[in-house]
Amino acid sequence: MPTAITHAVVAVASGKAAFAGRMPKRFWPIALLCSAGPDLDIGLMHYGVAYADMWGHRGMTHSIAFALTLSFVVTTWLFRDWAGFGSRRWWMLFTYFSLLTASHGFLDAFTNGGLGIAFFAPLNNTRYFMPWTPIEVSAIGLRGFIKYGGLQTLISEILWIWVPVMAGFVVVLLIRRLLRRQRPLAQ
Ligand SMILES: [Zn+2]
Repeated sequence: MPTAITHAVVAVASGKAAFAGRMPKRFWPIALLCSAGPDLDIGLMHYGVAYADMWGHRGMTHSIAFALTLSFVVTTWLFRDWAGFGSRRWWMLFTYFSLLTASHGFLDAFTNGGLGIAFFAPLNNTRYFMPWTPIEVSAIGLRGFIKYGGLQTLISEILWIWVPVMAGFVVVLLIRRLLRRQRPLAQ
């Protein structure tokens, strides 16, 4: 896995890029939950679930089906006062949380260790990696992270995830500013 902090960087940058206006306060903790939450499957390993099982690490909670389900639940239930079911806001939130949750497994698939990602669980538990895996895999847990080259992991994540994400974020901000500046001329 990339570290939780890297998933959080993706959540904040993409959230700021996707939603220009002021968001309800709960938006940010929920975004962090969607981006880093799939790794809560590590907890199941303490209850006898094997890594390679459907509910093992990088299994069900890293799948596309899980991303869509989690997004549907949080959008419909936790934002029911702000984004009515089926409204434009609802669709925007649903799309954002779906992509954000799915981005977790997608980024994990670029790492160079562990088992691959069960993108198509629960239909199929085959584990997949991307053809190119430049991101140094992070050891599980804080102790493992510090002991087994955590700094190297963080540097590779900064290089391969933070820099492209921030670059994309800056491009979106520039486009937004440009459009705002052009609007008065168009009237
Ligand atoms: Zn993960």
